[in-house]
Amino acid sequence: MSENLYDLLSRRFPADRSKPCFLLSDGRAVSYGDLEAGAARVAGRLGAEGVGPGDRVALQAEKSPEVIMIYLGVLKAGAVFLPLNSAYTPAEVDYFLGDAEPKVFVTDPPAWVAEAAAYPPMAESAPRAANDLASLIYTSGTTGRSKGAMLSHGNLAENALALHAAWGFTPDDVLLHALPIFHVHGLFVALHCALLSGCPMVWLPKFADADVLAGLERATVMMGVPTFYTRLLANSAFTRESAAGVRLFVCGSAPLLPSTFAEFEARTGQRILERYGMSEAVIITTNPLAGERIAGSVGYPLPGVELRIGGGEETGVIQIKGPSVFREYWRMPEKTAEEFTADGFFITGDVGRQDADGRVWISGRAKDLIISGGYNVYPKEVELVLDELPGVTESAVIGVPHKDFGEGVVAVVIGQGDEAAMIARAREQLAAYKAPKWILFVDELPRNAMGKVQKNLLRQTYERLFEA
Ligand code: AMP
Repeated sequence: MSENLYDLLSRRFPADRSKPCFLLSDGRAVSYGDLEAGAARVAGRLGAEGVGPGDRVALQAEKSPEVIMIYLGVLKAGAVFLPLNSAYTPAEVDYFLGDAEPKVFVTDPPAWVAEAAAYPPMAESAPRAANDLASLIYTSGTTGRSKGAMLSHGNLAENALALHAAWGFTPDDVLLHALPIFHVHGLFVALHCALLSGCPMVWLPKFADADVLAGLERATVMMGVPTFYTRLLANSAFTRESAAGVRLFVCGSAPLLPSTFAEFEARTGQRILERYGMSEAVIITTNPLAGERIAGSVGYPLPGVELRIGGGEETGVIQIKGPSVFREYWRMPEKTAEEFTADGFFITGDVGRQDADGRVWISGRAKDLIISGGYNVYPKEVELVLDELPGVTESAVIGVPHKDFGEGVVAVVIGQGDEAAMIARAREQLAAYKAPKWILFVDELPRNAMGKVQKNLLRQTYERLFEA
């Protein structure tokens, strides 16, 4: 039997295909029938254009239902979906296109889907095995080179089914979807839960307070990054009543501060359910739906996930094995070998511990990854850009606690220059969320005996920078 993920999802679409899948802000709806027909047209066009199993289809665009028609059509055709962050600059996009060598690059999904109507729709999905590649998700590398995590039909199907069960989704749910769809959180975690339930999504292009507050009146589940929750709490119009119809608030992609968890409970009477995941494995652990959700813990490993702590100490780097863990990085056998243990566990790079009860607690990141507004920023990539600017001898980029973004990107620079002009120059080469919010000029950087910059000391020195 084919294990094409599209077939698993579409078998669960509501029998009455006129039921809504996407509820749009302007009052229109896109039905499950529309979605299915769109996916079949996309697959038909891909087939006619010679795109077959294993071929990559890249997409960089604003969020729309047509992006999902293309995603599903790509799966149906047996090809590989490669979503790119809409904030990437042309120079960044060039790297991904060069590395992944897609046969098709879509930048205007509504037009692309409309043109696909000229081709005969694909009836039967291309047969796929569980191990066959479904999607390529790039995670920026600490050395500046991005790695493509290869996720198979089986990886995505297993995780979707596990989450659908763990979070108790039913056809009566309505999911508030305000996440971007170029990242695993919005594209796989949220979307697959809704599609497996055949339930509607309040489909918002981005997080805007007024739209989210209106959407919560219809929603039963919301998924978000910590920034969504701090923004809701900062809005006095968000009350216990606003949240009353929602049975579940899920949070992840970056650590949820215990203070946010507590403030949310005080305001709404509900406890946010925090879960932990990454591009290479989708979701790994989750707090329980029925049991107690504890602030600061990311909960228990999902069924089938083996989790252990490397290094022989109580706290160390989390290692995992399980049905959703990717097999390898695209065309990077050395990286793949470095990040798996001899007995097949993936070394996540996240530092944490597991308590006697089995709950997992994350304390930090082994590498100095910054997570700003739910997006990963690798300091090295920003440093490489800053170091090229006139007046800069050396830069060290760190994440500093920030009320809205979790962490804000800050550069500590040996040299001199006009801060605003330098930030503007960095913005020409980097997505906005990666560019420093602040540049501090110093005479020297703290270093260890090996000459390495001690970023932990820098983070301490500047930890209150955004409080002012
Ligand atoms: P990405 O591959 O972009 O999804 O980023 C994955 C990284 O986000 C993980 O390796 C963690 O460092 C971090 N992360 C995701 N969820 C959580 C969470 N609930 N708490 C702490 N860190 C998280």
